[in-house]
Amino acid sequence: MSIDELSKYSAKKWHAAANRELANPETRLFIGGEFVDAINKGRFDTINPANGNVLASMSAGDAADIDAAVAAAKKAFRGWSRTAPRERMEILYRYVELLGENAEQLAVLESLDMGKPISDVLAIDLPGCQDTIQFMAEYIDKIEGSVTSTEADVLHYVLREPLGVVAAISPWNYPMLMAIWKIAPAIAAGNTVVLKPAEQAPLSCLLLAKLFIEAGAPPGVFNVVNGIGEVAGKALALHNDVAKVTFTGSTEVGKLMLQYAGQSNMKRVSLECGGKSPQIFMADVADMESAVSAAYNGIFSNMGEVCNAGSRLLVDRPIYDEFIERFIATGKNAYQPGDPLDPLTNMGPMVTHDAQKRVLSYVEIANKEGAKLQFGGDVPTALKAGAYVNPTLFTGVNNSMRIAREEIFGPVAAVIPFDGVDEAIAIANDTIYGLAASVWTQNLSRAHKLVREIEAGVVWVNCFDEGDMTQPFGGYKQSGNARDKCVESLLSYTQSKSAWIRLD
Ligand code: NAD
Repeated sequence: MSIDELSKYSAKKWHAAANRELANPETRLFIGGEFVDAINKGRFDTINPANGNVLASMSAGDAADIDAAVAAAKKAFRGWSRTAPRERMEILYRYVELLGENAEQLAVLESLDMGKPISDVLAIDLPGCQDTIQFMAEYIDKIEGSVTSTEADVLHYVLREPLGVVAAISPWNYPMLMAIWKIAPAIAAGNTVVLKPAEQAPLSCLLLAKLFIEAGAPPGVFNVVNGIGEVAGKALALHNDVAKVTFTGSTEVGKLMLQYAGQSNMKRVSLECGGKSPQIFMADVADMESAVSAAYNGIFSNMGEVCNAGSRLLVDRPIYDEFIERFIATGKNAYQPGDPLDPLTNMGPMVTHDAQKRVLSYVEIANKEGAKLQFGGDVPTALKAGAYVNPTLFTGVNNSMRIAREEIFGPVAAVIPFDGVDEAIAIANDTIYGLAASVWTQNLSRAHKLVREIEAGVVWVNCFDEGDMTQPFGGYKQSGNARDKCVESLLSYTQSKSAWIRLD
């Protein structure tokens, strides 16, 4: 069944697919090309956030399983890194096809586990995974070294080689896509991988690994150890046979990764962490309608559980009242919480009931700090069993309030007024984060000035959250130090070797 055909499924069909998946879900670890139980028999439950039901009891890996997975990856490295580039490319191209052929299963697992609307999985997550693998595969035989200019009696060439075993530690907000943003460039460059997915959404990545073997990859190239972050994640990041840890998650845990590297073998650490992205709407914005829809889509899509969510809406004073009026008129009902398996639903629950509590606690904090609640801030009455939060808008926010400073990771928009471009820049940069930003203006010089001045890895002008595989995605400041998606990402899984040869 193609993704296009699946887009025509009814809620009833998706529930039938969910029942099939839940009859006998795969819960084991995937090591050396096989599903295996955790050595010490640890378990944890994964919960459906839409209704609070247990989806599956998963094998919980610990240090012993991490040892086994790293050993399998280490063993596979020699063969995989020496496989002809064309052969690796063929395997990755087949992998792209297999993701399409298994889209129903992948989509339903992702939606059940994370609460993501099924229509988003089909429109965004799965095509995003395929594009990433395709892009990285196409580059495999274009990774080149160089021959430098030297005196006549010397030949100096620089080789670009893979690193070895890569540890990937991923978050739950796009469980497959964030994992693939790491795994695809790592394996394309000739490394082998041990993935530790987030414990809130552990199901889909097991199938991703299995499909990679079906695509023709040797066992051990892609291993998955589910488990608790402080146990399995920590053991993996501390492992002395791991050459690099590539992490996406919170800034707090990102800092731990740097410590683990220092406490072990100085492994490379690449970090994609949190954000508090500003969208800046200047008074001369050309198209108020698209600006306002970018504002609410930028914070309400994927339930606001997006690292680059446009959570701070900086609005120039002359258009402030009109902006808010339009936001309420068109944005208040644009996202309707509902059953994630209904293709008409565009907003699911928060990933867990704890996440729901956390988001609601920020509503209380904002109220106490004097922000004005315009709508939302509560739980949809008909969906009490799930971890739902209604889309929420606060106005009259200033940048020192906690809702403007801390990553809420939920559908909570904060509108902050400003006076003129200099104040906009000052507010935009007054944050520990620097993942993304956008600027809305008709003035070309002002747009370029803002692009220069804003401390963020990605700046969009007159749009939000657009891009393709060529776009480096990653943060400044405490949003991290890595770049995903682009050629730079692929090369970050390689290292150079210099061969200086005396010829006489
Ligand atoms: P998290 O930091 O809680 O967890 C991320 C991963 O780290 C999980 O696999 C978790 O099990 C593991 N982990 C937790 N504690 C650990 C420890 N002590 N040692 C080793 N591993 C540990 O983050 P999350 O809640 O899963 O994801 C949300 C966060 O991810 C947000 O801050 C979001 O902004 C960020 N994020 C960033 C990007 C980006 O590209 N910059 C993309 C998506 C998400």
